[in-house]
Amino acid sequence: MNRIRLLSEQVANQIAAGEVIERPASVVKELVENSLDAQAGRVTVEVQAGGRSLVRVADDGAGMSRDDALLCLERHATSKIRRAEDLAAIATMGFRGEALPSIASVSRFTLTTRERQSQSPEGTQVVISGGKMLEVKAAGSAPGTTVDVRQLFFNLPARRKFLRTEPTESAHIQHYLALAALAFPEVAFTFQKDGHLVWQLPAIRSGTDTPARLAALRERLRSLYGGEQSLLPVDFSAVIRSNEPAGEEPGSDPGPQTSNLRLWGFIGAPGVSRLTREDQHLFVNRRPVQNRGLNFALLEGYHTALMKGRYPACCLFLEIDPAAVDVNIHPAKREVRFHQEGEVRRLVAQAVRETLLRLAHGPRTTDHGPQTTDHGPRTTDHGPQTTVHSPQSAVRSPPSSVLGPRSSALGPPPSVLRPPSSGLSPASTTPAPSSQVTPAAAVPLLNVPLRLLGVVGRLYVVLESDRGLVLLDQHAAHERILYEQMLNRLERNDQAPSQRLLLPETVELSARDASFVREQLPVLGRLGVGLSEFGERTFLLDALPPFVKAADPRRFVLAMLDELKASGLEVNSLRLGEQMVAKTVCRHAVKARDPLAGPELEALVEDLRHCAMPYTCPHGRPTLIEMNFRELEKKFGRTA
Ligand code: ADP
Ligand code: MG
Repeated sequence: MNRIRLLSEQVANQIAAGEVIERPASVVKELVENSLDAQAGRVTVEVQAGGRSLVRVADDGAGMSRDDALLCLERHATSKIRRAEDLAAIATMGFRGEALPSIASVSRFTLTTRERQSQSPEGTQVVISGGKMLEVKAAGSAPGTTVDVRQLFFNLPARRKFLRTEPTESAHIQHYLALAALAFPEVAFTFQKDGHLVWQLPAIRSGTDTPARLAALRERLRSLYGGEQSLLPVDFSAVIRSNEPAGEEPGSDPGPQTSNLRLWGFIGAPGVSRLTREDQHLFVNRRPVQNRGLNFALLEGYHTALMKGRYPACCLFLEIDPAAVDVNIHPAKREVRFHQEGEVRRLVAQAVRETLLRLAHGPRTTDHGPQTTDHGPRTTDHGPQTTVHSPQSAVRSPPSSVLGPRSSALGPPPSVLRPPSSGLSPASTTPAPSSQVTPAAAVPLLNVPLRLLGVVGRLYVVLESDRGLVLLDQHAAHERILYEQMLNRLERNDQAPSQRLLLPETVELSARDASFVREQLPVLGRLGVGLSEFGERTFLLDALPPFVKAADPRRFVLAMLDELKASGLEVNSLRLGEQMVAKTVCRHAVKARDPLAGPELEALVEDLRHCAMPYTCPHGRPTLIEMNFRELEKKFGRTA
């Protein structure tokens, strides 16, 4: 008996809808992507009841002829690709030819469209209900396309039941629209929810060069999320070389292929982090994506500038040859896969890291160590934070020694802590409460003169600048300074200073811990922790770094071990492992609540100024907090 039969078109569409259309936000996404692919200059989105009762997307794009308006509702009908090979290099948002028929199969659907090019004022209207064509007629319409999707899943009660509350569904829609608006600042977006206007974002015309695009993006960010954000501009490009053969066919050129990679956008300043990935916006060729590799790369780039378990705030655009990325791996096109995943990841991490370092020290010179030499990526130096009103572009720290000896010739007057480029300090000429300058464009805190006022709670150093109040966490600052000192020593293969204990102590460990410690002995030794094997599971502790003030040295070693184990050291490469050990040792440093005299505090600030990453401790907590006059005025109710 034959039991297999072909499914009807309608059922096939509903099955496709199961993958592509998860919820109202997926409808919005597919329709807006179509508008963007149709070169729309204006997109208007209207939803009712979280998109359950209505999603309407209207655009002024290319529009469709009557034939196309009918054809676009067939499955696998698309104008965006023709042949299988086209799948290898997709330059549009859509390409699957599935969205419209899928949506039309699970809703009451009306498409009204008129070709932009056509002279006739008449367009076409197609009405479909649950996949059944009800009507096709001529209809007066403005050039462009409008799609109405009513009663989503009305014919699939099971799917309808899975929808969340209206506010939740609305939030998903709004989230997607924000991403689209960030990716396309040149398109005007209007968003209406239940009859109320949520956004009206004007089109931002800008040039195609990165500074102009950064400016446009910043403006979009401002209108979506408000003004005061500490964001650093990123502008990085590199060439990825591949050693794979150029093609499968015999006789094709087997030489190395190259593709260009560009990363631009904004990232949160050091110490700025979020509890979730919600403010982490990543785009690949303008497509919002989720990609584990990129997530890791970001965290790697931040390294010590981010607290553990926290996520960076960012809006980053990766532009890469479409042939170097596969977008056809997820039905909703949410995920992408890079052909050279490792390389992309490494370069993204590098771009982030260089941006963070530049905050403290201006554009970097060419020598960044072995990682960067083979591909020769360059960062450009025209990001807003290096424009004329910032002195940092003129400031270069000595590359080999982060904490070089302070030059006494430049020594500041005792109570004023001047930045390295004291001759330039522009802040002293600016009227104090400046509301125009956004934080990222402003002069970095450590590049302006700071005056020492005192210490509160034996921990927080109070300083003032011409911009307002500054608090410094002396423990965090000291930790950062020590950490970078240690890394420098490790890099130079120097032995860190170490202080012998009057009475060496023995430390007994479990078998597992013992083998772990045995592996770390050389690094610990170089960092000044004198441990040696004394038996199968026993170690002799006879020296500590001088800054560790441990009343009970054995407890110090055990606590350090616990932290190292918790940090999952074994998964890291050797170099990261060393950094982790250094970080852990530093935690036990320190001028936690030690009373420090004025000159010591000044030395602390000065040492911090020479750090590569001065604005966070090695664990990503901020070392400095600034409260400018505007914020103070707000708190005291002097301004609205
Ligand atoms: P895909 O976007 O993958 O091609 P869709 O089902 O989303 O598949 O759309 C099918 C086709 O309909 C598109 O390729 C495009 O030619 C046309 N189309 C859809 N929406 C619009 C629109 N807003 N403006 C102009 N053409 C559109
Ligand atoms: Mg589409």
